[in-house]
Amino acid sequence: MPSRKAILVFIAILSCAVLATTALAQGAGQPKGSPATDKVIAVRAAILIDGSAAQARHNVLIVIKRNKIDSVTEGGNPPAGATLINLPAGVTVLPGLIDTHTHIFLQGEDPAEGGYDIQLLKHPSSYRAARAAVAARRALEQGFTTLRDVETEGAGYGDVGIKEAINGGFIPGPRLLVVTRAISVTGGYPLEGYNPDIVVPKGAQIGDGPVELRKITRQQLENGADWIKVYMTHRSWVDKEGHLVSQPTLTVEELKAIVDEAHGQQKRVACHAYSGIGLHRALDGGCDSIEHGLSLDDAAIAQMLKQGTWLVPTLGVYRTDWAPENTEDGKRDRARFNEHEASFKKALKAGVKIAFGTDMGGIPWTEPIANEFDYMVKYGMTPMDAIKSATSTAANLLEMKGDIGVIAPGAYADIVAVQGDPLANIDALKNVSFVMKDGKVFKQ
Ligand SMILES: [Zn+2]
Repeated sequence: MPSRKAILVFIAILSCAVLATTALAQGAGQPKGSPATDKVIAVRAAILIDGSAAQARHNVLIVIKRNKIDSVTEGGNPPAGATLINLPAGVTVLPGLIDTHTHIFLQGEDPAEGGYDIQLLKHPSSYRAARAAVAARRALEQGFTTLRDVETEGAGYGDVGIKEAINGGFIPGPRLLVVTRAISVTGGYPLEGYNPDIVVPKGAQIGDGPVELRKITRQQLENGADWIKVYMTHRSWVDKEGHLVSQPTLTVEELKAIVDEAHGQQKRVACHAYSGIGLHRALDGGCDSIEHGLSLDDAAIAQMLKQGTWLVPTLGVYRTDWAPENTEDGKRDRARFNEHEASFKKALKAGVKIAFGTDMGGIPWTEPIANEFDYMVKYGMTPMDAIKSATSTAANLLEMKGDIGVIAPGAYADIVAVQGDPLANIDALKNVSFVMKDGKVFKQ
């Protein structure tokens, strides 16, 4: 096998090639997305959920100058010379949606078609970059104007390149906050199960001990990580009583080195953690967000409240692809799903901060991202709180309060509209008919 460095260089070259090709197809490599023009746009919304108010607002005029919202008023007339977009009754206007847990470099790999492993072993980096670009476009089409994309799964720093291509206007896509390669320890991430004498690539960057893990954190931050992602649990199974057990990975001492380094550079740490020892180490080590949190016990919930830790539950992904019922994996899959429901309800009741996240990529990008809202509402969240979890609340997690997730003066003009009333029927969020990102209309 070539060295990891050689693989990364290879990925970088191929990614450039793909992006250059896309750019040429758009014509002479000219950015298409930004900056926004000086033209003033006014959007008239019959019904507006602005991301922060407790109720929907009616007959609202939103004035957009360049890429920002300039004013939001009840009634009123558009400024002279403004382009008016009328979004009539029957359509609900919202801030651009935010998914805080995605993988644009995953494609919901079907186990029957080689599953996860085949991507790292057989697909060229250019193929993966091209599909990531399609995933980004899919998200934007569905009204998701911001994603926190939580690792490339063996595609190196490919997310940084996709983000740059979007920001440069060469390909359409949401605002991306990227974590690059993510971190786990020896024995803590696939690929695994191969002949031990063969060195296979890993889906995350592997390190052991506080010194090595601090160095890895520095490398990822140097190379463009907006967040750091750590796998605090790995495999899971059920014990004799049928309860979920998760393999812990990093020690508290190891995690603290990562968190200390990231926080020192004013970056935050997202921790994949299911249950038990690994979950408690994640909290003791100072993770900013717990991803999945399948089995939060009372002590974990109390600690999350005390430390202000976020939960990104990703409910829907544990509903798909269950192994057959009477197999070990089948029992595990059902235990995950059942404990997750109880865990989410307990966290919600206790007042843990919850942000919308799906694990798209673990779910095929052909599925509606908004399916996740169904579970959140089914398990007790109000439709308005579910919408906020994907708008203003998610913006708080991302430390972008006031910039995204609200329709208010000073925010980026990320505005979407859906057919119907999502407060009455949360499924309306699957019918996105209008998307503006950064002051530019992408879908109308
Ligand atoms: Zn994930």
